[in-house]
Amino acid sequence: MKLFEALHWASSFLKEHSRDENAGELLMMWILNISRSTLFAEQRMELPAADWERFAQAVKDHASGRPVQHIIGYEEFYGRRFIVNEHVLIPRPETEELIVAVLDRINKHFGPSSEPLKLADIGTGSGAIAVTMKLERPALEVAASDISTEAIKIARENATKLGAEIEFRQGDLLNPFINEGEKWDIILSNPPYIPNAEEQILSEVVREHEPHNALFGGVDGLDFYRRFAQDLPKILNEKALICFEIGAGQGESVAGMMREAFPKGHTEIIFDINGKDRIVLIEI
Ligand code: GLN
Repeated sequence: MKLFEALHWASSFLKEHSRDENAGELLMMWILNISRSTLFAEQRMELPAADWERFAQAVKDHASGRPVQHIIGYEEFYGRRFIVNEHVLIPRPETEELIVAVLDRINKHFGPSSEPLKLADIGTGSGAIAVTMKLERPALEVAASDISTEAIKIARENATKLGAEIEFRQGDLLNPFINEGEKWDIILSNPPYIPNAEEQILSEVVREHEPHNALFGGVDGLDFYRRFAQDLPKILNEKALICFEIGAGQGESVAGMMREAFPKGHTEIIFDINGKDRIVLIEI
């Protein structure tokens, strides 16, 4: 069996099972440990029998609903590989836009500062946001929390593997950060924001394999933003930057809550590459 024949088989098998037809390429790159360009350059090579067997198994696994990222064990985020498993949300490309927005604002908002700015990532999951921020701006002091000890374990593994020094705290939302005298400059979060009733609209791959406590945010999906609006003012420095990922269509509601919580701040909604409201950013 030649490599391209295996790929053709995979794409029609995946199509038959209503999965992403291109997943075969990712799985083959993983099995042969080669880049996409090598995959195309070498497509006429004979595929060793053992590799074909592993490939066919991986394709069948994905066809039955298992996310490709769980099969290969990682997802790329902001150009780096993050280990993922069923205990953490698989990082999404939309969340890279949160990183871009925050990196763009930090210097403008805080100006030159001799004190290191303190950043907290709430509900860190795989650690994608916290680790990326620390690696992109090593001068930041970064802490990250999650309610799930299993998630913290994965986030810690990612921080160690990628060489990012981060302080992890286990606990519910802001609880690990509400300490006497401790104040923060930057708060980031991609909280669960899907309305509970939308569970059936999600793809089976997401619904069956990703942690529900990373996805669902109550009846209207906004429960976590309400809690943020209530508790965040207690833990911020006088000058601060807050940035949340939000679901499409939630911009006005979340921005409204934040304008009320931070009347002196400047709150804006940022749209993603697909034109959907995706980020709420508050400069205080
Ligand atoms: N963007 C994710 C999805 O659509 C949801 C992530 C979240 O709730 N924070 O599956």
